[in-house]
Amino acid sequence: MRLKNIKGAMEYVENSDYVVHDLEKNKGKWNKLFENEENDIHLEIGMGRGKFIIEMAQNNTNINYIGLEMYDSVIYKAIKHLENLEKRPNNLILIRADANKIDEFFEKEISRIYLNFSDPWPKAKHAKRRLTSKQFLNKYDKIFKDNNEIFMKTDNDDLFEFSVQTLIEHGYKLENVTRDLYNNMNIVNVATEYEEKFVKQGITINRLEAYRNGDKWKRRVKRGRFSFPKRKNWEKELKKRTVPFLSLHFWK
Ligand code: SAH
Repeated sequence: MRLKNIKGAMEYVENSDYVVHDLEKNKGKWNKLFENEENDIHLEIGMGRGKFIIEMAQNNTNINYIGLEMYDSVIYKAIKHLENLEKRPNNLILIRADANKIDEFFEKEISRIYLNFSDPWPKAKHAKRRLTSKQFLNKYDKIFKDNNEIFMKTDNDDLFEFSVQTLIEHGYKLENVTRDLYNNMNIVNVATEYEEKFVKQGITINRLEAYRNGDKWKRRVKRGRFSFPKRKNWEKELKKRTVPFLSLHFWK
């Protein structure tokens, strides 16, 4: 999300007490910054103006949330949103950072990652920059506490199919997968800003949940005890978990 440079946004973000700045200092102990430090931490990467994470924090007071975003002008909007609330959520922290550095300031402490409408980076030569590339999945491995959970939504079919593939190849099991979230409203859903815009335009929304039991999977790979599900079986597997299911192109 790129907004026009907002004058003074940088200073505003720097002085806001919603935003934590000293990232490395908190590595491994982000929970200490929250009132209820035993609660799980859920992280949204690329939160944009923060609608999703703010609503999630309001709805789920038993979870601690961290919203990560790269641009001051966008974080500024999230802060403004928070300042207009009647009650300030005590379970939400915002940080300004580049997701590429995520393993420099988190360590074994995140329980779930949300990726909502991430930049698709359509060119093959930019595949590494996609937030579900192998490179990023390796970084996430270092920041998850004991179990890995990645929840993803996107309008972009290619990014979605790329992600299904990388996640499965990284040992994740996919659940509650849909190619058309809004035909599937039995899934509890908080819409993001991008999502509202796309849905108004009649664009379908892809969604998945990916789970992995820590690093056990890696040990099994090393010992030759893990074989990746065969591609021809993915569709059958996923169909069981997906309503309504629109087939994925790379299976053809
Ligand atoms: N999640 C929001 C915004 C989606 S747009 C929504 O659904 O409405 C993607 C957002 O990710 C943008 O705000 C962009 O600035 C941010 N972003 C992209 N790459 C990033 C990176 N490497 N680190 C942090 N934020 C990033």
